[in-house]
Amino acid sequence: MSKSLQAIRGMNDILPDQTPLWRYFEGTVARLLDNYGYKQIRMPIVEFTELFKRSIGEVTDIVEKEMYTFEDRNGDSLTLRPEGTAACVRAVLEHGITGGGQVQKLWYIGPMFRHERPQKGRYRQFHQIGLEVFNLDGPDIDAELIIMTWRLWGELGIRDAVKLELNSLGTSESRGRYRESLVEYLSAHHDKLDEDSQRRLKTNPLRVLDTKNADTQAVLVDAPKMADYLDDESRAHFEGLKARLDAVGIPYVLNPKLVRGLDYYSKTVFEWVTDKLGAQGTVCAGGRYDGLVEQMGGKPTTGVGFAMGIERLVLMLETLEQIPAEISRQVDVYLCAFGEQAELAGLALAERVRDQLPNLRLQVNAGAGSFKSQFKKADKSGALYALILGDDEMAQQVVGFKPLRGQGEQQSIAWDALAAHLATCVVQG
Ligand code: ATP
Ligand code: MG
Repeated sequence: MSKSLQAIRGMNDILPDQTPLWRYFEGTVARLLDNYGYKQIRMPIVEFTELFKRSIGEVTDIVEKEMYTFEDRNGDSLTLRPEGTAACVRAVLEHGITGGGQVQKLWYIGPMFRHERPQKGRYRQFHQIGLEVFNLDGPDIDAELIIMTWRLWGELGIRDAVKLELNSLGTSESRGRYRESLVEYLSAHHDKLDEDSQRRLKTNPLRVLDTKNADTQAVLVDAPKMADYLDDESRAHFEGLKARLDAVGIPYVLNPKLVRGLDYYSKTVFEWVTDKLGAQGTVCAGGRYDGLVEQMGGKPTTGVGFAMGIERLVLMLETLEQIPAEISRQVDVYLCAFGEQAELAGLALAERVRDQLPNLRLQVNAGAGSFKSQFKKADKSGALYALILGDDEMAQQVVGFKPLRGQGEQQSIAWDALAAHLATCVVQG
């Protein structure tokens, strides 16, 4: 292939040997969300650039340097979505489905785009499953989101490898008061801060808290603490959340430096982190954003949500070898037919069987071939059984039924009895 035909750096193909694991993961999450009463919403992948500037905030990493922004043929500035919350809020407002205090429990899945430095667990097109709840303002729903993810980690077999970090940013008022005293403190130590933090001090001071710079971290040791600035409402909310997590038995670590990258969070913020993926350790992150809908032009509407990175979680399943055995086998039964008449009869027989066993994974040989070559394909397919239609079977209106994984001898089954026989020996998902 010519060298110029390549995918864009940081944008990956998900190849056929990987998709079964993706579908297992996505299916597990979708079933869980159904069971907890969440409904799926699907938004476009492209939105007006303004939407992200207004919701995520002008001085965040995403808006400052990570967005794929372009002009379309009308001269409108459009952006490939870097995350899902903004578009979800736009959609509920546009369609009026959160008006009058209507509760919405929504989820979405799909690709997101950020111009970051590609590395393990960090890509330019990546995939999220996200969830947003509108018009429920108590800690009970914050708890439900966390409880649901806890159950998910349990079902996936990765619970022991993740840790919940929790913080409260308070209401926008208490957050504002905290920001002021933090700025005052940091300004007094301006010269000891790294360059990035000096810049953030002016634009987005809370982000200084999650600096990786050791000198700045030393300055932060004596900085004012967010927890001391929480008002009664925020404090009660946070206590309510913790009590619920305790009641269910979900361990957590309080991390006063957890501020999250986006501008719009208030009260609860949380991250599920792992040490199994190297530097890209956050697999799911979220929090409450009670002011966002109003900031975007809606009536006051509370919100809380999270997003998980599918690539990172799939990587975790692989790293921890939590790949269910059944997903590696894609075929139950492989039908081999020899000669034109047998091929025609085989096709009709396969359709009759599929009518009766809609979940059976039955593959019919294509491309004819000798006895030897069709058996080789049957074996390679991973099927448990081969069905054989040759001259003898045609004459007797039977099909040869041959176990491929050493479970007994070949036998002959009458065409009419085939579906019933298969139902007894193939466990159907
Ligand atoms: P990080 O700190 O790793 O950059 P973030 O705070 O920017 O993450 P969010 O915007 O909260 O991430 O997105 C939620 C989740 O989406 C992350 O926890 C992560 O699992 C995943 N994610 C974010 N950016 C990427 C990326 N570039 N590639 C792969 N997954 C990502
Ligand atoms: Mg990021």
